[in-house]
This record gives sequence, structure tokens and C-alpha cells, in this order.
Amino acid sequence: SLLLLSIIIGCKENKVSFVKDTTHEAKIAAIISKMTLEEKIGQTNLRGVSSSATSLPTDLKESVRRGNVGAFLNIMNLEYVDELQRIAVEESPNGIPLIFGRDVIHGFKTLFPIPLGLAATWDAEMVEKSSEIAAFEASGAGIRWTFAPMLDIARDSRWGRIAESPGEDPYLSAVLGAAYVKGFQGDDLSNPYRIAASAKHYIGYGAAIGGRDYNTVNLNEPLLRNVYLPPFKAAVDAGAATVMSAFNEINGIPATGNKFLLKDVLRGELQFDGFVVSDWDSVIEMVYHGFARDDKQAAELAAKAGLDMEMSSEAYEHHLKELIKENKVSIEELNEFVRNILRVKFRLGLFDNPYRNKKHTGNFYAESHLAEAKKAAIESTVLLKNKNSILPIAEKTNVAIIGPLANAPHEQLGTWSFDGEKEQTNTPLNAYQKVNTNFKFAKGLDYSRDKSTKGFKEAIDIAKKSDVILFFGGEEAILSGEAHSRANINLPGAQEELINELAKTGKPIVLIIMAGRPITITNLIDKMDAVLMAWHPGTMGGEALYEIINGIKSPEGRLPVSWPKTAGQLPYFYNHKNTGRPADSTNYIAMDKIPVAAWQSSLGNKSHYLDVGFTPHFPFGYGLSYTTFKYENIFISKDVINFNEDLEVKVSITNTGKKDGKEIVQLYVQDIVGSITRPVKELKRFKHIFLKSGETKEVSFKISSKDLEFVNHKLVKAAEEGKFNLWVGPNAAQGLKASFVLKK
Ligand code: BGC
Repeated sequence: SLLLLSIIIGCKENKVSFVKDTTHEAKIAAIISKMTLEEKIGQTNLRGVSSSATSLPTDLKESVRRGNVGAFLNIMNLEYVDELQRIAVEESPNGIPLIFGRDVIHGFKTLFPIPLGLAATWDAEMVEKSSEIAAFEASGAGIRWTFAPMLDIARDSRWGRIAESPGEDPYLSAVLGAAYVKGFQGDDLSNPYRIAASAKHYIGYGAAIGGRDYNTVNLNEPLLRNVYLPPFKAAVDAGAATVMSAFNEINGIPATGNKFLLKDVLRGELQFDGFVVSDWDSVIEMVYHGFARDDKQAAELAAKAGLDMEMSSEAYEHHLKELIKENKVSIEELNEFVRNILRVKFRLGLFDNPYRNKKHTGNFYAESHLAEAKKAAIESTVLLKNKNSILPIAEKTNVAIIGPLANAPHEQLGTWSFDGEKEQTNTPLNAYQKVNTNFKFAKGLDYSRDKSTKGFKEAIDIAKKSDVILFFGGEEAILSGEAHSRANINLPGAQEELINELAKTGKPIVLIIMAGRPITITNLIDKMDAVLMAWHPGTMGGEALYEIINGIKSPEGRLPVSWPKTAGQLPYFYNHKNTGRPADSTNYIAMDKIPVAAWQSSLGNKSHYLDVGFTPHFPFGYGLSYTTFKYENIFISKDVINFNEDLEVKVSITNTGKKDGKEIVQLYVQDIVGSITRPVKELKRFKHIFLKSGETKEVSFKISSKDLEFVNHKLVKAAEEGKFNLWVGPNAAQGLKASFVLKK
């Protein structure tokens, strides 16, 4: 009955938004009626070509000729792409074209900031534009399908793949998830400059226990539906052509063999009609999970769950035929997989236009692409501290450029950037070299994990001769991404040590972090005059940072994840719940103040850590600017609204600083009492506004009971009557407050 309920919820929700596209169904049926069992199974196979191959292996060509492969991934040799497609179209029994997929995650050749950085822009238009450019460049290399966007909510910065994620918030992730899909796919997927998206990794992958990659995931269903599902729903509603099933198990059942998630939720409720591809080997990983006895049973479980295409492993290829013969999987189930796959091939226009247009070169690194990449890097950079407005630095300031990331072209591109070329990458040092002579450069450390102090002296020497130290530190690309979780998330190697030495010179220090995750800097922050978080900023990171540091542009990013004081606070997320005890980070006795031999402290009964309190170092949504903003006069149109009414919320915001600047105005809501306990705050809206120095603007938002809905323990999605708090402010920890009541 739980299941039935979920289906009802889904139907109710999707009635309005979903119109099934049935344009190609008759053609698909006609093809399927001619296909042999082997060819049908062939469509479910996603294969690669070994990167060490010096020519196309004959047996692979033969497989394609027989119709035994449906798609390929990560082939970069264009001759192979052309030849394989020619064989499929001209020589295979039904001439079904192949799809060529690749991990185009944050750009193809022109690399944008890593997805977590793109999320820090809070800018759906920018995300859409970046994906459109990625699609344009990638399609120039014969790619028509990307394994992106990654939409795993990430609440634990130890997890290496947080770098690929949209951060911790379901609403922001949903807004950006839809933008990615629109950017990759456009309105018409048959446009040869567009590529099919794959919303991944469905689902719960970011909730791996302890932030250890691939680890077990336990998510109760309301949590799954309220936090983890919204970005996937948004991507499917935006028309995502494919979805990738995750590696992880969820509540004991691997996502790749999870009938409830794949059939009931994804197909039934979300009305997804593209195809589901497994993650790399995730079908046979069900054996290691201890969910399937062997590859054959893994194939059976995946097929029964509704997995359409298998990436890399060959369980379908080797076992589906027998499973069908044994009546464990029906031919109708296989036909459904083929229908889903062919539907996407039709939508991509591959039956009419299977071949790469050789005139479409992708225009790699076109000026307009680089300009957008630079804009994205500027928008994604978050200013965390700026004591005495040391940034932007004054003209003619002599700077000492120091640190392992100041001139590390490969590292600043970040994870999943194997198509970006370091020769094309603009580093901060390059940017200075191009236009400014007031600098000296000494790396100090060769790479982010370098523990050697041999470069310290030279770095300290140039620091002494400068007015300001610019320290470019953080993590190399390899320290985040898949299978690259960290238990400590501080600056690796001898970076802290070097910074401490540099601080002794008495010169102001600007710390510029390039990393795939928030980096704990509590030990350093007091010695820093300014801190900029640049994530891994991509191809144009150097110029972007140069312009920010020198005041040509302002940093515009806001944190898409809470920034912890120490990894020991993780998982931490702003939209947590209250405990039965106040979570008070100030009014308690800190560990070093507890008297020796005390039994119990009177102020100790709080929910916190004795050594670091409870709150993060910087809250979700946080980011300074080169100017300051004042929020005043919160106005709500009604104190009581009913279920069909909108609530209008207005705030006036003044730029009280000397520079013009952009602010990202955020609206949060708290449902004070619920049939299940509710988060202390949830982001519901945000807006970008630009204010000239001294200017005031009124910003208004509309919300309704729709925005207050959540899935409860009975799996009913509804808003509940009662009192709500609402804040409008610059981040999750600050804002003007108002309250209203929702009533029937
Ligand atoms: C990753 C996916 C990726 C796939 C193909 C897997 O290891 O988890 O995100 O798309 O490889 O490269």
C-alpha cells in the first residue's frame, strides 16, 4: 500500500507537466519486429575501446556488424567513431546507429569550473550556457551523449565526488539540474550540436556513510523523496534523455537492481521515458555487494528492476538470452529496453543523421567559449574573508605569487577534465605575466601534497620584498573526484607550514584556494587577510582570479555547501533538524574551559561538539562582495494564507558600500511543527540583483503552499497547516525574519 500511495502521489504531481512524446513509437515497433534476440540484447551493450588499441580490434568491428553493440563510451579517435558508425549503419542487420557517449562534466575542451564551483554561481543561465558550449564542442568530436549532470546531493565534504555535485541543497540542485539538461539538450535533441544528458547517479550516492566513496547508503523514504529526489525530478521534467543508476546500495538494495527506484519511482511517478544506463560495472558489482550470487543473477536482478543498458560489464550480453529461455526475464521486458534505447536514438536524430558532420569542428577554445568560462570562474569564486578590504589590491601593489596552485595548469582544471589541455590553460601566473610586471613568483612547494621545505626560503625572500602575498594553495585535481575521499580536508602537504612561515614576515596574505571541496582553515584564518575560494576554476581560472584580485571584477559566488570547521563536524548541512536540545554554539563551556575533575558542567547539556561547537565555519549561501548590502523592511502580503493563495514577500536592499555589486538574495522557510519533524530552514527561492553604490532596490518573491509541501511518514506529499518562519537574507545564517500561518 505504501507503494500504491507513492504512485498516486506521483501521478497527481506529474499530470500537469508531462506530455508523452510518441512521435517515434510506430517506427520503433517496426524495427523491433525485425530484430533477432541477439540484436535486441546488442542494443543494451555499452562498450569501450581500449585506450592502448592502435587500431580498431577486428572482433569489435565484427560485434558491431552483427548488431551486438548499442553504444560506445569514451572513444576519442574520430576515425574509430566514423568507422564504427559506418559499420553499424551500413552493415549491421537493421542499420541501427550507435550512440557515442563521454564524460563531458564541466566542459569539453574549454573547461568551466568544476560542478561544485558552477553551483557556487547560483546561476541557472550560466550553467545552461556552459552546458550548451560543452555540447557544442563535444559534438564536434562525434559525441552525442554525456554522463552528466551529476545531481547527487552531497552533505559530506570528505566525499571526493562532492566536487562533481551541485552541493547540499535540493532546491538549488533542482534549479541547476534542469539548467544543465536544457543546456546540453536544447529544445530539440536532433540538433547535431546538442547532446543527450544523463542524470546521475540515481540515487543517494552522495549519502555514502562517512563520505567514503561507494559506501553503503541508508535513507528513509521521506528523506530520499524530500532531499535526494528533487534534482532528478527536475532533470527528468526538463527532458533528460537518460538516467544513470548508481553504484551504491540503498537500504540494502543496490540502485542498479532496485525495482522500486527504477520502475516505480522513475518510470511510474516521474514518467521517465528515456533509457537507464548502469554505472561502470555496477551490474556485476551487485555480486560484490552480496546481492547477487553471480553475474547471471546480477543480470536477472538488473533486468527485473528495469535497467535498459549495461555499461562496461557484460552480464546482459552473456546471460540475457539464457535468462529469457528460462523464463526468468521475458522477451517483452527486453523489448521495453530496446524501445527505450531506440527512442533516444530517434530523438537524437541518429536514424536520419548518424554521421559526424566533419565540418563541425566544435570550435574548441573559441573566444566566446573562453569568455563564458572566465565569466563562470568569476561568478563561482567565493570571497570568504576580506579584512580591511585588502581586496581588491591597489594598483601597482607589488605582489609575491606563491603556492603550488599558482601555476599548475592541469591541477586547476579539476576532476573529470581529461579533454582539457594544460597548454591551453590560463593560470594565475600566466595572467600576471601577460599584463602586470609588479610581481615576483616562487612556488614554495612543488605540488599540493609536497612536504618538502626546500622551496620555503625563496618564497619567504620574495614575500619580504613584496607588499602583499598571494598564496595559491589547495588540492591537486587528483585529491577529489571518484574514489578520492579524504578523512582530513585541510590543506595537504606542507602548505599550512609554509603559510605560517610567510605570516611571520608580517606581510598581508591573501589565500586563494583551488580545491574540489571546502578546505578546513580554522587554524589559519586569523593570519589571513583575505580568503578566496576558487574551486577548480577551469581553463580561464587565471585571468578570472587576476581580475578579481585587481578589482576589475568582483567575486560573485556563494557557498553551495556549508563550510565545516573540521572534518569531525561532517556530515553537516544547514537544512538539518532540531534535536530535543538547543544546538547552541556559543552558550556552553568549551572543552578547554571545563575545570579539571569536573563531573558535569551546568551549561553542558547542549547538542554540540565540546571542541568546535556546532556551527560551520561559513554557512551555506555565504559569500562576501567588494561592497556591502543592507537588508531592511521585510514585508509579507498576509499573515495567514490558505492553500490556494500566494504569499508575497518583499525586502528592500541597499548597496551601502563604495562599489557597485551583485547580491544573491535568498529566501528560507521553516515549517515549525510537522507530522514528521522538519528542517530548521530550507531554501525556497533566490534572486540575483545588481546594485550601484548607494542604490536601493525592492526584491519580491512569491511562494505558495506548493513550496511548503513535503513527503511525510505515510509517504503523502502535502503542505501542513500551521505556523511558518521565513527569512530573507544573504545566507542561511542571517536574514530578516517574518512569520505566517497556513490554514485550510
Ligand atoms: C563513474 C561515472 C562515469 C562512468 C563512465 C564511472 O566510474 O561513476 O560517473 O560516468 O564511470 O566514465
